[in-house]
Amino acid sequence: MLLKGKTAVISGAASKRGIGRATAELFASHGARVAILDINADEAKAAAGDLPPVEQGAHIGLRCDVADRASCASAAAEVLSAFGLANILINNAGITQPVKTLDISDADWQRIVAVNMTGVLNLSQVFIPNMRENGGGSIACMSSVSAQRGGGIFGGPHYSAAKAGVLGLAKAMAREFGPDSIRVNCVTPGLIQTDITGDKLSAEMRADIIKGIPLSRLGDARDVANIYLFLASDLSAYVTGAVIDVNGGMLIH
Ligand code: NAD
Repeated sequence: MLLKGKTAVISGAASKRGIGRATAELFASHGARVAILDINADEAKAAAGDLPPVEQGAHIGLRCDVADRASCASAAAEVLSAFGLANILINNAGITQPVKTLDISDADWQRIVAVNMTGVLNLSQVFIPNMRENGGGSIACMSSVSAQRGGGIFGGPHYSAAKAGVLGLAKAMAREFGPDSIRVNCVTPGLIQTDITGDKLSAEMRADIIKGIPLSRLGDARDVANIYLFLASDLSAYVTGAVIDVNGGMLIH
């Protein structure tokens, strides 16, 4: 039990096969009381209801659009009134779009950057003051191999840019809030089998991609959840500003 007695907030944790949902399940099984914040309110509530019970009280699922500051502020107020404090924040919510540079519209750019990058700032801003008051916390942020290699497989250049921005933002927050005992780290997954790719991954593409992965398989949501668990727990007590690759060796650098 690595998170016994802790409280954790996880964004983008409603979708059934997603990384956030797998993380919520893993955290609850390690004793954390979990708040699932997702743009999909009904799925967030249902997901929270399905988590294994913990002694601190019921898990909660709330609507929150991470791209919207007011939505983050009202979700945080609700979480903090129910939980009292947030020890852990997992900035996981994200969306992608497979378009090329010349086809990115202004609206596409704004939305991809707002959800993937600004969302990390918005949620961090509303939970950091509480972490500070309570002696510290751990924040983990979702980036992507796409930020490191200039494009993943399904993300366009705006997605790469937003996920690269997350790396800079997280490292700067790690430096700023280290003295408050708030650690901030990132994960950079390769291709993980979730619904974010929709039905765009054909059997042929999949076989082709696997040829470039030394561990010879795509990742599972649980592979990333395990790294979030490490970053959330005291196992990583002396780790901040770090970026952990979870890509089966797809990018070794
Ligand atoms: P997913 O689509 O299963 O999960 C994304 C979740 O975010 C969903 O529950 C969705 O409802 C929620 N969401 C979307 N927009 C939101 C918003 N504005 N506010 C709050 N919640 C919102 O996909 P996933 O693959 O589990 O993605 C999780 C994260 O991992 C994303 O940030 C994604 O960019 C990142 N990522 C995924 C992969 C991959 O290969 N699957 C690789 C690298 C990084």
